[in-house]
Amino acid sequence: PTTLVWLRRDLRLADNPALYHAARRGGPVVAVYIHAPEETPQYRPGAASDWYLHHSLAALESALADAGIPLVLRRGPALDALRDLARACGAEAVHWNRLYEPDAVARDRRVKQALREEGLDCQSFQAALLHEPWTIRNQSGQPYKAFTPFWRTCRRAPPPETPLPAPDLGDRPAPEAERLSLEALELLPRIPWDDGLRATWTPGEAAALRRLEAFTAEALPRYHQARDLPAEPGTSRLSPALHFGELSPRQIWWQVVAAREDGAPEQASETFLSEVGWREFAHHLLWHHPDLADQPVDPRFADFPWREDPGDEWLNAWQAGRTGIPLVDAGMRELWRTGWMHNRVRMVTGSFLVKHLRLPWQAGERWFRDTLVDWDAASNAMGWQWVAGCGADAAPYFRVFNPVRQGERFDPQGGYVRRWLPALAELPDKYIHAPWEAPAAVLRDAGLTLGQDYPRPLIDLKLGREQALEAFQAIKRAD
Ligand code: FAD
Repeated sequence: PTTLVWLRRDLRLADNPALYHAARRGGPVVAVYIHAPEETPQYRPGAASDWYLHHSLAALESALADAGIPLVLRRGPALDALRDLARACGAEAVHWNRLYEPDAVARDRRVKQALREEGLDCQSFQAALLHEPWTIRNQSGQPYKAFTPFWRTCRRAPPPETPLPAPDLGDRPAPEAERLSLEALELLPRIPWDDGLRATWTPGEAAALRRLEAFTAEALPRYHQARDLPAEPGTSRLSPALHFGELSPRQIWWQVVAAREDGAPEQASETFLSEVGWREFAHHLLWHHPDLADQPVDPRFADFPWREDPGDEWLNAWQAGRTGIPLVDAGMRELWRTGWMHNRVRMVTGSFLVKHLRLPWQAGERWFRDTLVDWDAASNAMGWQWVAGCGADAAPYFRVFNPVRQGERFDPQGGYVRRWLPALAELPDKYIHAPWEAPAAVLRDAGLTLGQDYPRPLIDLKLGREQALEAFQAIKRAD
């Protein structure tokens, strides 16, 4: 009898427990992807994420076909699609790998119960995380609120199992089933704004594995030194691959162990693994705070006096990379063009929005959700609460990043700013992060007229900082 494998964000053949154990049952295997965003309304992905998904599914379909497994595409509701397909293929079992967002968990529970009642053997597996969110607890049995002790506990646990091989069904013929075309899922944009995404990303498992190889060989040995420098290719850019499960964290883990045996410095590999640990921590937080994307973990922030007067004008300027602060604008343009932004710059652009502009962090969370190819419910919500100072283990609200100082420190030659803001390309390093401070002659030599070729700052940085701190005092007093 056939086994159905319901693929979701595990778009890979290697180290895919649901697929591996389905193949071991001996009968044919049919893989199904069900597009049902309406079933997870709280954590519904945006346009850049859908773009990536489309291309990742295309790569998956052909890799599965080579292994003798058809990929059936359907639309939701998931329960109806699975029920119908199981009947059409004569399937007796359904496998999937677990998701952890609260609305997906609730849906999966309903599906499992209903299918079991109809006599199908439903099995779910752990594949997306090194540790399931509920398994890591402190000594009093409580969830962690701070990353360092959380990760220490994870590090003390036994290492993850070694990755499973990709299945190959060879000559087991699979039953035919009605399927939608990939285009029918309508994941691609109607207006073609995706040039930059196409030029930047190659979705799919094979490309993700190549990226992991290249990163471990070239950048991992210097990761601890280069990871904060946005002008350099110092990080892995594996975030969309991890989000969509083109690659598993277990595969990363064992690749890093092997690199260490080959001489990669301990500090570099430990720092890299701890970043993968932040991803685990994000899922831990979301599990214990299901409203992480819009409710502050620190309840005092529910009454924070966000600025109301500028309407959408400031938000639009931030989104378009037209705030007049070079590091912020460079980051927002990198995001719009490529669907990704360097982590250091995510922190700086986020901090500028919630502190200098004093606009609600939830507006930033929504914009990133729509524009990131690596948008992840847990990591994005945690990142925004960290930036806003209202999350677990967050940067304290009173610590306000100065985007000029951040630029001078992490982009000292301005290579990153020049790449994304060609209008500033000819400015000397000294003024690249604060063009408004440049004398008129310097601006003239650089061919730059402020207010025309590049905006003047939306807000005086010192004033913005002072007002942010005053607003914070107001909620502290109310406490
Ligand atoms: P690397 O430095 O190579 O790290 C390896 C992997 O570790 C990443 O691919 C990612 O899966 C994980 N990781 C690294 N840093 C973090 C972190 N701080 N939090 C959680 N996981 C991490 N990451 C997302 O994957 N999706 C998001 O939607 C997202 N939104 C963010 C929003 C804000 C405001 C901030 C400050 C950070 C956000 N991050 C998010 C975390 C981080 O910026 C990205 O994971 C990282 O930039 C991805 O690049 P990389 O793959 O080259 O990372």
